[in-house]
Amino acid sequence: MRVTFHGVRGSVPTPGPTTVRYGGNTVCVEVRLADDTLIILDAGTGIRKLGNQLMQGPLPDPIHLLVTHGHWDHIIGAPFFAPIWRKDAHLLFHAFTQLAHERFGKRVLFDGEHFPVRAADIPATVERAPLVGELIRIGSAQVTRIPLNHPGGADGFRIDDADGASLCYLTDNELSPPGPVTTTLGELARFAHGTGLLIHDAQYLPSDLPHKHGWGHSLIDEVLVLGKTAEARVLALHHHDPDRDDAGLDRIAADAAAWAIAHAPEMRVVVAAEGLSLDIPGK
Ligand SMILES: [Zn+2]
Ligand SMILES: [Zn+2]
Repeated sequence: MRVTFHGVRGSVPTPGPTTVRYGGNTVCVEVRLADDTLIILDAGTGIRKLGNQLMQGPLPDPIHLLVTHGHWDHIIGAPFFAPIWRKDAHLLFHAFTQLAHERFGKRVLFDGEHFPVRAADIPATVERAPLVGELIRIGSAQVTRIPLNHPGGADGFRIDDADGASLCYLTDNELSPPGPVTTTLGELARFAHGTGLLIHDAQYLPSDLPHKHGWGHSLIDEVLVLGKTAEARVLALHHHDPDRDDAGLDRIAADAAAWAIAHAPEMRVVVAAEGLSLDIPGK
């Protein structure tokens, strides 16, 4: 399995000289399975570059799409994903819940008000896969879902490929929310147990709280504990705060690496950056 980050920013795009190294596009992750099937996780502004790359060759058929939830930073890139403007493109959107299934059906971005083209006038074939329940098969992998602690709800995904490689994508999620807990850290650790790559929301440092407590994002210290508890081989800190500049992310990378050496020497921690590709070995 090969995983490539095309957008790593949370909440809002942050172009400019202080974010140029980690990138300012909102979240979008490309997953290539053992059989070369393409799964796109989230459709933030990073999906524009991925679309342009895909246009250089024959398009995967279909292009599979999994979206964690409908907040703007996770969908706003969709109109600028070049393959949707091609008649021969086929996009397949997967949902686990009735709610996610219905939200896609609203196609709010393509209602004629938020973007000039309406859903019915998109040249590509854009379909919802039928709702099948708790396990979806995509190419050589099976995908499962876990609900996250986020205002309005969000879905986390685990992708287990036929060769044993696995990925967990958990964003947006607050590991210690102030109100009722949808899913505990222990439950998330079991869901992600032994994964080759755990990608998790890591938006906040203690200095960002308590003001942003309850906004649905996690403290990096708690994300490190989750990675260790889950025995993830690689932990990728993702969905960076829009006010975090490159120097701030460098400090987070150094602190996280030092923590891992002291507390979880088997785990490698990376700070997700645009263009970063990780190969996840099979078993
Ligand atoms: Zn978000
Ligand atoms: Zn969100």
